[in-house]
Amino acid sequence: MRKNIVAGNWKMNKTFEEAEELVSKLANGFDKKYLKCEVVICPPSPYLEMVSDYAEESVFDVGAQNVSEYENGAYTGEISAEMLSSIELEYCIVGHSERRKYFNESNSQISAKIDRLLDFGIHPIFCCGEVLNEREKGIQFDVIKSQIAKSLFLLNKDEFSNIVMAYEPVWAIGTGKTAKPEQAQEMHAFIRSLIAEHYDNETANNTTILYGGSCNAKNAHELFANNDVDGGLIGGASLKAQDFIAIAKSF
Ligand code: PEP
Repeated sequence: MRKNIVAGNWKMNKTFEEAEELVSKLANGFDKKYLKCEVVICPPSPYLEMVSDYAEESVFDVGAQNVSEYENGAYTGEISAEMLSSIELEYCIVGHSERRKYFNESNSQISAKIDRLLDFGIHPIFCCGEVLNEREKGIQFDVIKSQIAKSLFLLNKDEFSNIVMAYEPVWAIGTGKTAKPEQAQEMHAFIRSLIAEHYDNETANNTTILYGGSCNAKNAHELFANNDVDGGLIGGASLKAQDFIAIAKSF
């Protein structure tokens, strides 16, 4: 079901102590009374349980940043969807541009990860986005269409209803070059039209589509005010409690 979500991706940042300091500030800072969105925190894996303990006393959910494409077994260093489910995680990021770029994750690996997560009732937060060169060439819509078709449109309608989408133009991630609100709206509307075309209007209207890429406390309100922007996937600004709380209050 479509809802407003603000998700924080901490990436590979913070020691255990720093992470605990941040999450305790967040746990105290969020108040159900003013929140018009669901909040998800995606810390590094070693901190998932600690952050989940704080979540129990607060209003946010917890997500992982990655999952193995394989089931359990001899895959040294990997973390399975079953493991994430056994600590009751609700969300997991998949297809992030950093994983596509630095770990060569392909659309078919991303598709396998999504299948593993859905097997265990975890909502994938599926990231897609074009690089600068692709936007300059004007092929951003083709790029997004292809990423979605190859990793998501293999799902049936029921399976797809568990997906949270995140449009993250790669040129905006960590660069301070936020997409203009109208650029975000244009792409989100396009993504929704692809979903309507492939499934139906109801499915498209029920899909949550987040924006990610240098979203911060100053620009979140303008971005989230667009019809097809249902919240944000936040990197850098999720590492500061005050900023992340302000973003969550931007609806
Ligand atoms: C991200 O990496 O998903 C992201 C949106 O990062 P940032 O907010 O730092 O651009």
